[in-house]
Amino acid sequence: MTSPDAVRLPGDLRGALCPQTDPEIFFPEAGASPAAAKKVCAACDVTSECLALALSLGTVKGVWGGTTERERQALKRAAGDELRRTCRGCGAEFTRAATSSRSAYCGDLCRHKARRTTQNASQTRRTSPRRAA
Ligand code: SF4
Ligand SMILES: [Zn+2]
Repeated sequence: MTSPDAVRLPGDLRGALCPQTDPEIFFPEAGASPAAAKKVCAACDVTSECLALALSLGTVKGVWGGTTERERQALKRAAGDELRRTCRGCGAEFTRAATSSRSAYCGDLCRHKARRTTQNASQTRRTSPRRAA
């Protein structure tokens, strides 16, 4: 049995239900069900704060915010995939900032290059002489 961390929850998670329950259930043996811990988390007032904390701490053992370590890894992977993009200009892989809406290009260079190409193309269309019929 993995022994629970000495300080399982930082003080800012006031209202946490787990200190009132058996801490062992939050660290089920490999292959054992985390259901008992998840049930406590489901009734806890700070589930989302707890999950956010666990995700921010990196790898933490046991059930936090109603999730197992493996489930949190999956959440992180999914979030990472969502932010990964292929640049429309150079084809490089890049990570879009979560807040950025300009996500098609890896950076200003590719964005400006693309804009110039579009401008040149429309200029060429405008200035090229009409073909004789
Ligand atoms: S969500 Fe679960 S692990 Fe987190 S504080 Fe509440 S009872 Fe504890
Ligand atoms: Zn690029």
